[in-house]
Amino acid sequence: MSDSATVSQRGAQRWERGHPWIFKSDVRKRPTVQAGVVRVRDDRGRWLGVALWSPSSEISLRLLDENPEGKINGDWWEARLAKSIARRSGIGESTTAYRLVHAEGDGLPSLICDRYDRWLVVQVLSAGLEVFREEIVAALVRLTSAEGVLARNDVPLRSREELPRETVLLHGDVPREVIVCEREVRYAAAPWSGQKTGAFLDQRENRQLMGELARGQALDCFSYHGSFALHLARRAERVLAVDSSAEALQRAGENAELNGLTNIERVEANVFDYLRDRDRAGERFDTIVLDPPAFAKTRDALEAALRGYHEINLRAMRLLAPGGVLFTASCSFHLSRSLFLEMVEHAAGDSGRRMVLRQITGQPVDHPEIVNIPETGYLKGAVLQAES
Ligand code: SAH
Repeated sequence: MSDSATVSQRGAQRWERGHPWIFKSDVRKRPTVQAGVVRVRDDRGRWLGVALWSPSSEISLRLLDENPEGKINGDWWEARLAKSIARRSGIGESTTAYRLVHAEGDGLPSLICDRYDRWLVVQVLSAGLEVFREEIVAALVRLTSAEGVLARNDVPLRSREELPRETVLLHGDVPREVIVCEREVRYAAAPWSGQKTGAFLDQRENRQLMGELARGQALDCFSYHGSFALHLARRAERVLAVDSSAEALQRAGENAELNGLTNIERVEANVFDYLRDRDRAGERFDTIVLDPPAFAKTRDALEAALRGYHEINLRAMRLLAPGGVLFTASCSFHLSRSLFLEMVEHAAGDSGRRMVLRQITGQPVDHPEIVNIPETGYLKGAVLQAES
């Protein structure tokens, strides 16, 4: 049995350039062992490091340690996790929910871990990593004193690794609902059933930013549990929270109540139709948020997605009152930052409005985007103001 892999020069170069993945097509000699950890060398016999090995995935090897003698045991995981957690020092002062581990972005390939107050939600996204589940959970519990750890392993990515899709409790207990304190706002996250690991933590700083800029009549499109709406409602006179999901809006209503906010109205509608109708009716808003789901889930879907982004942005710009502020975002990985800004530029041109670019936003520090690893970045946003 061989526990080592041999990779091509092209594969080796990826690691040298700071990207932790080696694809199947660059593996010259496959290890004969099952999924787990293997030593890796190039086809000239040079040892390169230790990697997670996923026999059935297109991403065969994910670099863990550049030391080929590195021992990947409980202590190794604990040290790496401790580093990741230390990068978040200070975040806990403004929120009780944030990401502790952003996978490749934190040198912990295929592992996501989000903290919701005293509980953790993890996602184990490769066959190689799955082998170390127990060591990882034990280390996380030691480091955070979490009362419970839930695995939201119900994501499609797991199928590519031939892993079961499931939601399972790995330690202690995790409630159905956790009340999160995010600056001045409180909202309920749903670890077992909510989107992602229970809430959209990646927009935290943008919600805060828009909470400060909001005023007058505000519109929160694709509101989900109302997390932008809650921040907007602190300064705006009235907020309309629009979403096509009645269930999501129900939670938005509960969240408004939790904060004693009475100026949020919920609208169950398709945002595309809703914006068109408001535009035709000649309505105006002082603050608009566009936080749609990923329209481009694959590269092939990009063209159609761009039409969708263009349409909602164009309509939102037209709906702005003079001086009105728009926050627009995209979480599609396949839509690059430059394409996103190009789309905004076209929408502004087509809207007939003169738009000031106030700020370009990205991911918060707990979702580190590594420039060498494009896959760690997906969220981009822009704050725009209608000049007149
Ligand atoms: N802004 C939210 C996250 C939005 S998630 C936050 O910060 O927490 C995307 C939301 O868009 C989901 O709630 C989904 O129900 C909704 N949605 C998707 N397509 C829609 C459409 N065409 N019209 C209205 N809502 C839509």
